[in-house]
Amino acid sequence: MATVKVPVVTDQEIARHLTSAEVSNRSVAQKLGVSWSRVDEVRQRLQLATYRRGRRVPEQSWEEAVRKRLKERDDGHAEWTGSRHPLGTPLLSWQGRSETAYRAVFRLHYGRVPVGNIRHVPDCDVEHCVAGEHLEDRAMRDARRAGGAR
Ligand SMILES: [Zn+2]
Repeated sequence: MATVKVPVVTDQEIARHLTSAEVSNRSVAQKLGVSWSRVDEVRQRLQLATYRRGRRVPEQSWEEAVRKRLKERDDGHAEWTGSRHPLGTPLLSWQGRSETAYRAVFRLHYGRVPVGNIRHVPDCDVEHCVAGEHLEDRAMRDARRAGGAR
């Protein structure tokens, strides 16, 4: 009596094909000739990311994250389209971290870390404005006051 040899696909082999969340269970199942549920089982056991079609590509850098949430207005001020503190302060939430959008915009605009608190320049009277040139840190306030004629 002839025995039918069923090729054995090991879990390791399945896992080797599940390289990222971009690979679907179905494509691996078809390639290896195993069931979809078997592939899914391996994926879950190894706690690999679940396949998601058309997954949003995460922002590569905080600079990009800031630019995406900053909406410049025609009048020179800028709005924040990202998340906010319950009191209204714009927040940059990126890769699980959170800071005020003012600090992030300041770093992006002036290329340095702000000193002390960030406030709006006297010329800007728009609440929660995130235009880079409308933000100043303590170092800039001190310099402005020292240079201002009295
Ligand atoms: Zn402004």
